[in-house]
Amino acid sequence: MIRMAMPQIGEEERRAVLEVLDSGMLAQGERVRALEERFAALCGVRHAVATSNGTTALHAALLALGVGPGDEVITSSFSFIASGNAILFTGARPVFVDVRPDTLNLDPGHLEAAITPRTRVIMPVHLYGNPADMAAIEAIARRHALRILEDACQAHGATVAGRRVGSFDVAAFSFYGTKNMTTGEGGMVTTDDAAVAERCRMLRNHGQSRRYYHDSLGYNFRLTDLQAALGLCQLDRLEAATERRIAHAAYYSEVLPSWLTPPVATPGARHVYHQYTVRAPGCRDELARHLAEQGVQTIIYYPVPIHRQRAYLEMGFDQSLPETERAAAEVLSLPVHPLLTAEDLDRVRAALESFPYGRGPNG
Ligand SMILES: *Cc1c(COP(=O)(O)O)cnc(C)c1O
Repeated sequence: MIRMAMPQIGEEERRAVLEVLDSGMLAQGERVRALEERFAALCGVRHAVATSNGTTALHAALLALGVGPGDEVITSSFSFIASGNAILFTGARPVFVDVRPDTLNLDPGHLEAAITPRTRVIMPVHLYGNPADMAAIEAIARRHALRILEDACQAHGATVAGRRVGSFDVAAFSFYGTKNMTTGEGGMVTTDDAAVAERCRMLRNHGQSRRYYHDSLGYNFRLTDLQAALGLCQLDRLEAATERRIAHAAYYSEVLPSWLTPPVATPGARHVYHQYTVRAPGCRDELARHLAEQGVQTIIYYPVPIHRQRAYLEMGFDQSLPETERAAAEVLSLPVHPLLTAEDLDRVRAALESFPYGRGPNG
């Protein structure tokens, strides 16, 4: 089976983690600080704060931006559930706007209609590693004096509008096992805003200012040095791994059968292909079954948009987002990870070509 994700773990990672084990200092320490410093440099910002995962990075960032009960945060419903949940954890309300039909990212054209006096933050999601249209979003945020929180959990190393993802205001990244770089579980907040960074540091460590003096309510959102040691090695691999993802995507887009719609990158952006996601209108599920039979794993990101999840319906979310819902019915992600071989790519191509499109029960 050609798998959807494979973490790249080498001798370097093994050695780095063993070193931490042998040091006897396993929790947040020197390695976490080193990872923060290097990740801030990757994003071209002054501050990075490591957290236990991408969800806690989003949660801490929202709290640090002062988001709370009565506030609204505008985001995209075509995302992993964490994008909506992190907003709910603060007591604020997610306001979902539709995505662009081509890039599948938050459509800036719908933003202004969604802004109310309660809006505090615009939270674009760089879905699949494709940056949202940040130039347009930033212009609207400025006009309405709103803050931006990038959900960059899938977009390590991406760029847009001549700038690095993670550098627009405040951003959250994830280092989950399948992401473009991993610490097993892990996250990071990046920003140039020293006050936001300081609040995130307090929030991740029970509001502690010095040992056992707690100035505000906080959480345990800490990353460990064991994880950070892994993350430092993964950061060394990130650029080469990203180039391989981009090369694999270019291959697919060249050989893709004409009845499939290839992914569309935001103009001027470096899409880092966390996922290579095609649209297969009318035959997505049959295609997924066919590829599985041919030994090619695929995954639907995401079959149910956040506003249609049962948890959200029960909270009273009830709206129609036509492009989001159409995308959820059509998308299918193909394996694009850096460890795929030329032979793997060729097998995926052959598997796609052998699908009896137009000859099956679905026309
Ligand atoms: C992975 C992911 C998250 C959450 O990150 P975790 O590390 O799994 O908590 C949030 N948003 C998006 C878009 C993600 O892909």
